[in-house]
Formats: sequence, structure tokens, C-alpha cells
Amino acid sequence: MELKGRVALVTGSTSGIGLGIARALAARGADLLLNGFGDAGEIEALRVQVVQRFGVRVAHSAADIAKPEQVAAMVAQAHEAFGSLDILVNNAGVQFTAPIQDFPDEQWDRIIAINLSGAFHATKAAIPGMLARGWGRVINIASAHGLVGSPHKVAYVAAKHGLIGLTKVAALELADNAITVNAICPGWVLTPLVQAQLDEHARRENTTAEALSAAFIAEKQPMTKFTTPEQIGALAVFLCTDAATTLTGASLPMDGGWTAR
Ligand code: NAD
Repeated sequence: MELKGRVALVTGSTSGIGLGIARALAARGADLLLNGFGDAGEIEALRVQVVQRFGVRVAHSAADIAKPEQVAAMVAQAHEAFGSLDILVNNAGVQFTAPIQDFPDEQWDRIIAINLSGAFHATKAAIPGMLARGWGRVINIASAHGLVGSPHKVAYVAAKHGLIGLTKVAALELADNAITVNAICPGWVLTPLVQAQLDEHARRENTTAEALSAAFIAEKQPMTKFTTPEQIGALAVFLCTDAATTLTGASLPMDGGWTAR
């Protein structure tokens, strides 16, 4: 329970990787502010489940990460509900695919707002409290697409490369304040975000997602296995331990070898 007494906010934690990270932090004793969209009843059931399973305090914020004033209010909610914000995981993210010449302007703006600017606004709002308490962890969920490109993902790849730039600058500014800032760069993780891409691929090739799965992964990864949200959660927990005290400004791929190519 090495995170007992710490408070964590994980953006986009009602699903997928964010939920995996939130559960992993709660399992080590951190109180949690969940964030994300979904059915109100399902989110409340999830909140109660985490409270009962891990014995930590859990609240939920419905803040839209694309809206700076809602992001600032969400960070304030963590302080009001739990007295501090020690661990910020910028995870909320969305995807849209099209060639650049067909890429809708509003999808570019939406992806940059959620996947990049939201992390800036949350980090900016969280830093003063971390400095005051003399400890903090910021973990940005980037992507293999923060390190390399792929066609038809211009906004996503630009946002994720930008998130890695944000990670480096924040790490430099906060070095020697016991606050580390790192990015995790997952390869394929089977979440609703990726299931949608797999389904779309299968539709185009007139096959099923199950039949296509291994070939879909192999197109990018030498290791033809999905990473799980639990595995990403375990890496996030490691970044919060004393063993990772000097690990800062890094972009850590967990991508089945994708970016080794
Ligand atoms: P997901 O679709 O399962 O979950 C996304 C979460 O973000 C949900 O909780 C959703 O409600 C929330 N969200 C979306 N828009 C929001 C907004 N405007 N404000 C607040 N919350 C919002 O996706 P996922 O696959 O778990 O992705 C999580 C992160 O991991 C994203 O940043 C994604 O880019 C990154 N990532 C995913 C993969 C993958 O293979 N799944 C790989 C690399 C990186």
C-alpha cells in the first residue's frame, strides 16, 4: 500500500487504459478522482466497486477535458474532496482517421484539444499544489504514435508528439522539486478505442475483427500480442514508487517492439 495517503486523478478513467491505471493506483492505496463520460448509473457502480474492492475514497468528475475551465474545476474538486492532488495521469484521448486533405478541421481541433491541450491545462492547474506539498507525479499517456507516425492519423500523431514535448519541458521545470513527469507510450491495447479501428478494418476487408486481430497487430508490432490496461497500470504504479525517484522526462514505450523497428 505504498500510495496510501496519495490522491490520484486519472482523466478518461471510465474505460480502457485509464480505468486500468485507476484500479492499479487504488490497489496500492491511492484515493481517486475518476473522470470521463458514460452512463451515470454505470459510472456510479464502477465508483462503488473500486471503493469496496480497495477501501479507498473515490469520486467522479464529468469534466470535458476539451474545456480548460472544466479541467481547472476538476483539479480544484480533487483538492476539495481529498485535500490534495499528488498524482495526475493525463490519459483522456480520442482518435479519428482520414487522409490529410480530407481531414475535417473540427476533428483536428477536437483531437488537439483533448489529447494535447487538456494535458497542458490539467498539469498547469496541478503543479502549484504539488510544489506546495513537495511531491508529485505527472504521467502522460502518449502512444507509440508519440514516437513514430502512421498514415491517416495526422491530428493524433501531432498531438501525441506534442504531449512528449510537454512531458520534457515539465520534467525540466520541475526537476529538484520531487515532482517527476513522464510519458508512457503504449502500442496496441484492446480497448473500445482500438476495437472501433479493428471493426472498421474488418468491415473494409469483409472479415471479422477476431480473424483480423493478429494481422492487425503484426502490421505494427513484432510481438503479436495486445498490451493490457493492467500492464499499463503496473507501469504507472512503478512511476509513483521511490524506485522511480530520478526517472523523469522519459517516454517509455510498452509497445511489443513497435518503435524498435
Ligand atoms: P477508450 O476510448 O477506451 O477510453 C477513453 C476515455 O476517455 C473514456 O473514459 C472516455 O469517456 C474519456 N474521454 C473521451 N473524451 C473525453 C473528454 N473530452 N473529456 C473527458 N474524458 C473523455 O480509450 P483508450 O484506448 O483506453 O485510450 C486511453 C488513452 O490511451 C488515450 O489517450 C489513447 O490515445 C491512449 N492510447 C491508446 C492505445 C490503445 O491501443 N488503446 C494505444 C496508445 C495510446
